[in-house]
Amino acid sequence: MHELSIANTLVELVEQQLPSHSDSKVRSVRLRIGALSCVHRESLEFSFELVTEGTLLQGAYLEIESVPVTVYCPVCDAVEPLEGIQSFRCPRCQTPTADIRSGRELELHSIEVDTVPV
Ligand SMILES: [Zn+2]
Repeated sequence: MHELSIANTLVELVEQQLPSHSDSKVRSVRLRIGALSCVHRESLEFSFELVTEGTLLQGAYLEIESVPVTVYCPVCDAVEPLEGIQSFRCPRCQTPTADIRSGRELELHSIEVDTVPV
């Protein structure tokens, strides 16, 4: 399961960001996922819940921000959002273009941490 390994990597990444000696607890994790990254949102949410059990991320809210696909059109000399991922054409002039500028993102955007004072 693809999403399970993403969730695992995510937990590792977040834990690396946390100060090792504190009693921090992660409140929320924000992800940016492009429409082309082939990540199934519900599966990822499910996997996230599964792999965070017993970690500092347990109970953390997974926030997923969808990144639209944009392509560069050489005719318009502009980056335009794609209307659908079925056809890679400029939405303005219909020129076919495969010059993808965004939509493949799969990145950790930010984390929110509750720090318990020692
Ligand atoms: Zn165009």
